[in-house]
Amino acid sequence: MISLNSKTTFIVENTDNKKLDKIFLVIKGEELLIDNVSQNLALIDNEQYKWSEMSVKTEHFIGYLDSNSLYALELEDESSLMAETSLKPFRTLLGIIPDIYFGICSRSIQLVEWNKKSKYCGVCGSETSMHSIEKAMFCKECNNLIYPRISPCIIVLVTDKERLLLAHNKGFPGKMYSTLAGFIEVGETVEETIKREIFEEVNIKVKNCQYYGSQSWPFPSQLMLGFHAEYDGGELKPDGDEIDIADWFHYQSLPEVPPGSISISGRLIESYVNKLTKKDLPGFT
Ligand SMILES: [Zn+2]
Repeated sequence: MISLNSKTTFIVENTDNKKLDKIFLVIKGEELLIDNVSQNLALIDNEQYKWSEMSVKTEHFIGYLDSNSLYALELEDESSLMAETSLKPFRTLLGIIPDIYFGICSRSIQLVEWNKKSKYCGVCGSETSMHSIEKAMFCKECNNLIYPRISPCIIVLVTDKERLLLAHNKGFPGKMYSTLAGFIEVGETVEETIKREIFEEVNIKVKNCQYYGSQSWPFPSQLMLGFHAEYDGGELKPDGDEIDIADWFHYQSLPEVPPGSISISGRLIESYVNKLTKKDLPGFT
């Protein structure tokens, strides 16, 4: 198995023009092939692939991993696995595998899924095939191109000085709280989405939205755009539909929240608490 280190770089690319030595990661649905010994992603080279006796349905170029071309292999349902490996759902690896692995797994799973769901043209219904140059499925009957899609979402930590607004979504397990989030609708700006979503979900207004960072979230194909925002009035009232509980929490007594190692929600919370702890928040007294 091939191990990555903290200096490994991954570059997203759609066409393998360099044709370097190949490295493979292996996917079946939302599961990834794991090395039983290291409990990390099993990355294999050409020789290991050749002797593995795995049955592969499709093969997808993902990008360049240092001086290698990285490919994702989609396993047939009945395929055998290599010795000393097993399949594990991607979700269970969150927070365990390092960031570099998260990025390549996220891209691989999404591309395999897109390929699977784009077998037929949405315009004329004909069968499609992979375009020779573009990362797209192509309909030769009507020239329709189907590119991989991502759905942009906003995720926002609303604060009021020492207090953080956190919510419990009906779908969350137990007493887990998180920041507010929602999909960007067609025709909307990001700023409009933030104001609309927060008002819809908890009935308050916000101001001073500041971009923090983003995260690819492949469940199924989202791009989370993280923001900090300040409370600007209104009475807190969860919509009762998506959000069943929403409350203000002092930064020193937070409920159970996602860790920063797993999600951008956790990183938004951690970054704000760090700011308060250092007492360098602009305008904070
Ligand atoms: Zn067509």
